[in-house]
Amino acid sequence: MPVEPDPVQLEVLNPATEERVALVPAATRDDVDTAVARAAAAQRGWAAAAPADRARLLRRFASVVDDHIEELARLEVREAGHTVGNARWEAGNVRDLLDFAAGGVERLSGRQIPVPGGLDVTFLEPLGVIGVIAPWNFPMPIAAWGLAPALAAGNAVLLKPAETTPLTALRLAELALEAGIPEHLFQVLPGTGPVAGDALVEHPGVAKIVFTGSTRVGKQIMAKCSARVKRVTLELGGKSPNIVFADADLDAAAAAAPMSFLDNTGQDCCARTRILVQREVHDRFLELLAPGIEGVRVGDPGDEKTQMGPLISAAQRERVRSYVTDGLTTIRGTAPEGPGFWYPPTVVTGVAPTAPVATEEVFGPVAVVLPFEDEEEAVRLANATEYGLSGSIWTRDVGRAIRVSRAVAAGNLSVNSHSSVRYWTPFGGYKQSGLGRELGPDALAAFTETKNVFISTEA
Ligand code: NAD
Repeated sequence: MPVEPDPVQLEVLNPATEERVALVPAATRDDVDTAVARAAAAQRGWAAAAPADRARLLRRFASVVDDHIEELARLEVREAGHTVGNARWEAGNVRDLLDFAAGGVERLSGRQIPVPGGLDVTFLEPLGVIGVIAPWNFPMPIAAWGLAPALAAGNAVLLKPAETTPLTALRLAELALEAGIPEHLFQVLPGTGPVAGDALVEHPGVAKIVFTGSTRVGKQIMAKCSARVKRVTLELGGKSPNIVFADADLDAAAAAAPMSFLDNTGQDCCARTRILVQREVHDRFLELLAPGIEGVRVGDPGDEKTQMGPLISAAQRERVRSYVTDGLTTIRGTAPEGPGFWYPPTVVTGVAPTAPVATEEVFGPVAVVLPFEDEEEAVRLANATEYGLSGSIWTRDVGRAIRVSRAVAAGNLSVNSHSSVRYWTPFGGYKQSGLGRELGPDALAAFTETKNVFISTEA
């Protein structure tokens, strides 16, 4: 008998201490094959169930998640280094997404279209088995963006979490079973991207891939999906502008700017990392901004008062460091010494708009401040990027707010605020920030195929 090699183990580290939290066996291609077959069988029963029963089970799933918010949040703190306040919000977001999707099950109806000689109706049919490939920066919410609407629309879901953050996903799968979600309908496949992730992308039994991650991997996945005309949604990188006009409430704009790129230690696809400031208020804005950056409380993410935790890994810290080269002028906050993947809040000034730190997604607590002369230049600079995910506009002029919102090529903009992701409004990117939309009123429809049936009345 050939000896089976030991399965690859995923090592989960606590980013704040570098201590091992868990070793998780990595799913193989065979595991993915088995999971797809089981999911396909479970999906047939789920799609045939009465809509009200599916909705009830999803509500129960939401309720079980609600009973475990603190446990899930603490797990997220340990495996991802998120501040506990953020982690509680993230677990609550899973609950809310499940509730929201449950409300759509009985409302997911087709249409009747007038035609001569008969009756024409459309059906919104589930796609089948959905592969959700999630990143490490928001493991729970992003998993649920795909999971909740896909289940609600009658599909099965196979979730592949990121290598570094599989634990909350595995716990959610246990909670689903506890809530009565049928076995195998929602399975988690912890594993590496090139093995478990790729197996989902290549598998003919997976009807759609919902990918959130880097633009580099997203392009590879899109190319592979195209070979099978497999449905795909991509949520990719960002380099979002925060445009501050001279007529804005400068105090409010400066006070809001730090957490608009430091939240989640800057590991946020919507981070406002290009702060564009009208030249006449540029220096004043920096004066107002500096205390906000220097005063951010960076430290133990489990402490209620902490505003910013560590980066996810040593590799991520090296990547961030590589962008803040010697000689750059910076405003810096503080970060703990010793174990943990710490990096201080950092603002870079006086760089060219074409410098790598001003054009590439750093994915850490680093932003640049760039001056502009007028509205035309602000829009040009905002759009001078391959990305187009989000952005903010600070002005007291309503006409300008609307003009600039329409002119910036990005999927999610906010005026005089930095909010961008709500589960009941659509979310997604322009240009190389993504393909397709998630969340919002049409979330369930993205997990269906429209079938048109004509029934003759002449026979
Ligand atoms: P990543 O692309 O390295 O990995 C994302 C996921 O893809 C992981 O689960 C990984 O295992 C998997 N993967 C890697 N290679 C694969 C392959 N060949 N085939 C299939 N799967 C593969 O990204 P990351 O570093 O985990 O996440 C950070 C990125 O995600 C950032 O660029 C960020 O902007 C982006 N992001 C985008 C959004 C959005 O909504 N637009 C949200 C969050 C994060």
